[in-house]
Amino acid sequence: MTKENKDQIIIRTVSDMQTYARAARLRGESIGLVPTMGALHAGHLSLVRRARAENGKAIVSVFANPMQFDDPGDLARYPATLDADARAAFGAGADAIFAPGEREMYPEGFSTFVDMTGISDRLCGASRPSHFRGVLTVVTKLFGICAPDRAYFGEKDAQQLAIVKKMASELCLNVEIIGCPTVREADGLAMSSRNARLGADERISARCLFRALNEGKAIFESGEADPGVLASHIRSILEAEPRARIDYVGIVDPLTFETAPSVRAGNLIALAVYIGDTRLVDNTKL
Ligand code: AMP
Repeated sequence: MTKENKDQIIIRTVSDMQTYARAARLRGESIGLVPTMGALHAGHLSLVRRARAENGKAIVSVFANPMQFDDPGDLARYPATLDADARAAFGAGADAIFAPGEREMYPEGFSTFVDMTGISDRLCGASRPSHFRGVLTVVTKLFGICAPDRAYFGEKDAQQLAIVKKMASELCLNVEIIGCPTVREADGLAMSSRNARLGADERISARCLFRALNEGKAIFESGEADPGVLASHIRSILEAEPRARIDYVGIVDPLTFETAPSVRAGNLIALAVYIGDTRLVDNTKL
């Protein structure tokens, strides 16, 4: 364990983290967990502040989980900024950072996985087939290590939030999953650790995601309820941006991530779009 000051601590091993969580629980303190992959920005910090406000102890995990990356290049390019992350997380009220190494989380011979059928095969799951298996496995493991009463996830990754909620409920994990609103840059781009990879021109092009979501919403509000027609309007807005390449445009139920025959209020417009080599996701509720 590394002591930052008397109350703030960086923990590197599973057993130290379990000891810390057990001691907090014995003192009657509730635990809020914010799982992240690091490169923390204001979106992450909004989750940390919420965890701080609602619990005796706020733990932030920083682990770029190799199991959820389908492209090794994407993992290699993922920013590793633990010192800055720790300062930012402590500044937002975190009590402990859990930053394990890969071998600490996945020792030689590791062979247990958590998987879900149906919802996790759609949208992000269709374009990145083992992605949600990696997410569910690491989240289950983090719950086992940190023993949280509450865990905080961003609505920006709406499918991940829905899948984690379903898993926690179906496996009776005794943790409340709390969704937090998407924090955006001034021009509407959803904050993401991946935004740092965008060149100056790409950064401007990336505005097309928020533009497409807003225009899609406006078209729905003007009475368009055919998902195919709505999706093709949204696609044409994205296709007008030369640096954008669509991965998917989905208009889906927020629990099942299936497309209904007719679009209803409460459905999500969910997008994944490459800007150059950088894959961005965003969504909005209708
Ligand atoms: P990541 O480090 O990208 O895995 O994200 C860690 C958590 O922060 C996830 O629950 C994300 O959904 C959430 N998150 C990422 N970006 C934002 C954002 N712009 N606003 C709110 N939450 C976010």
